[in-house]
Amino acid sequence: MKKRIRISTFGILVILLLIAVSLLVDQKPSASNSEENKSQSKNEQLISNQADDKSSKGDTADDLYKVVIDPGHGGNDPGSIGASGSYEKDFTLSLATKVYQLLKQIPQIDVYMTRDEDVFLSAEARVRPKFANDLGADLYISIHANTFTDPSVSGTETYYYNQNSLSLANIIHKHVAEATGFRNRGVKKENYFVLKDTTMPATLLEIGYITNPKDEKMMLTDQFQESVATSIKNGVKEYLEID
Ligand SMILES: [Zn+2]
Repeated sequence: MKKRIRISTFGILVILLLIAVSLLVDQKPSASNSEENKSQSKNEQLISNQADDKSSKGDTADDLYKVVIDPGHGGNDPGSIGASGSYEKDFTLSLATKVYQLLKQIPQIDVYMTRDEDVFLSAEARVRPKFANDLGADLYISIHANTFTDPSVSGTETYYYNQNSLSLANIIHKHVAEATGFRNRGVKKENYFVLKDTTMPATLLEIGYITNPKDEKMMLTDQFQESVATSIKNGVKEYLEID
């Protein structure tokens, strides 16, 4: 009896040993398998990274025109005060939002806003041009309303500074001046920092004088703003040669 038990214990030990050895033998190739798996997954990662690059080029990044819409002023900088006491910063945000919505519908364009709420963007820190430069924007359009001490003064004018912006300013101005119906005051060169510090073609639109009571009343209507927003969209499309 005792001997039998010992043998069977020995047998069990042998079996366990065999199992242990076979596990060790198995582990070696499986270890190298896991190495292969690692390098395979690395390759997959590289492939998927390249796929990401491709898809970002095709869908969002480099193939699309990046257009920055800049509603002038904001926060504790109200801009001009209108004849009725309206703030330029509210007009610019309202119009810019309409332009944004229209440009968003164009598949070739990726549109951005420097602000989409009533916030202050430091001119001293050059927040607006930096935003567009860092983004690698293709176009920059700053939206403003004009002011003058004489309330009878009226008109639409467009500004540029760098020479690479003149063509953009001319094209946008042609569309906007037609849409406002105000006196056409032309395209002018001025060293506004948003025009001077932006590296891409940039233009600043003075849509109309909100110090003129009649013009202000028009400018604050949805209909006027929709019409001007459409004219800016058409100007952008003409400049970028989008059908
Ligand atoms: Zn302004």
